[in-house]
Amino acid sequence: MKIGVLGAGQLGQMLALSGYPLGNRFSFFDTTGSPSAEIGETICDQTGARLTEFLSQVDLVTYEFEHLPLELVKQVAHHKPLFPSVEALGVCQNREAEKALFDRLRIPVAPYRLVNSAEELASACQQLMAEGAPAVVAKSITEGYDGKGQAVLSDPSEANEAWALIGHSRLIVEAFVSFVREVSIIAVRGRSGDVVFYPLAENHHSEGILRYSLAPLPDVTDAIQQQAEGYIHQLLDSLNYVGVLTLELFQCADGTLLANEMAPRVHNSGHWTQNGAMTSQFENHLRAVQGLPLGSTQAIQPTCMINIIGQLGDTQAILGLKGAHLHLYGKSERAGRKLGHINVVADDLQSLMTQVRLVSKHLPNAPEPKFTCV
Ligand code: AMP
Repeated sequence: MKIGVLGAGQLGQMLALSGYPLGNRFSFFDTTGSPSAEIGETICDQTGARLTEFLSQVDLVTYEFEHLPLELVKQVAHHKPLFPSVEALGVCQNREAEKALFDRLRIPVAPYRLVNSAEELASACQQLMAEGAPAVVAKSITEGYDGKGQAVLSDPSEANEAWALIGHSRLIVEAFVSFVREVSIIAVRGRSGDVVFYPLAENHHSEGILRYSLAPLPDVTDAIQQQAEGYIHQLLDSLNYVGVLTLELFQCADGTLLANEMAPRVHNSGHWTQNGAMTSQFENHLRAVQGLPLGSTQAIQPTCMINIIGQLGDTQAILGLKGAHLHLYGKSERAGRKLGHINVVADDLQSLMTQVRLVSKHLPNAPEPKFTCV
């Protein structure tokens, strides 16, 4: 089966790496002008002129990047099976549509307002803070990622500056959640509606970029895991979704979960599954889109994923550490750029944390690894 992938970054690269043993071959279609997958064939095209050529090479199409022109994706879906669907992509591209879906399915979220001007932003900030929010987070409806297109306001007087900084014509303004931790759940739905769930991962960000993901979590009760599974299962079924879906959540002090956002693709917070689970998220995504049986999502060992951001660090020293698995994407160093990650596995959580601290010492600017469960 020849798989077409829209987007040609590291997620596509890792999809291909896990698809070769399944007998798959890959063609990538890049609309950004900076593909980095460097595996299989890549067509670089910002105009859509080479779409027919791309489609002629593949049996089905998936994507590894959600900021794609929706018209182009609709064209793809006219000619080839496309998973996940255009509808799923459309919802995940737009925070307003996403929140509306969460509301419709009664999946709890932080209180929010939609605004179209700096004045409306100021009054939304005032209202949410009067209702008890310690601050608010204003986000562009479209195109935001890794904390870009966002601003935190602790007073309505900051509205003009935040509006100018974000530079979009419509924003969502959310109550700032004083969460205990950020977690994510990754689930996979096959073509016949079968669903499997990975255990929740705890995620730590710095400057809007994911730095560490830890899974499985010893302090997640069955009730919390099932709550997260219930939310994502509803999302999958309501979108008749096929493939991997990621739901990012805030866990509050009383244990409850609030949905933040979702991604219609394999996700950075699921990279731990490459070395820590029976089947990786990448392999399971490919199994799902091809209508193959889904693989076990069971965790094998406690695992921590550490992102390599901006500078490579001492990769040789890292490889010398027990349990450390290096995954480099073949990118050159640049501030804030995701260059690769390390999955550290160990028999128990204490040994894992020891190894994670050792790895982080070899990564310039890595924040101190701290998790709520250890
Ligand atoms: P997002 O692009 O929505 O995932 O936001 C990026 C990061 O900003 C999240 O991972 C959180 O760390 C933080 N953040 C976003 N929304 C909120 C919120 N309502 N309250 C507190 N922190 C938030």
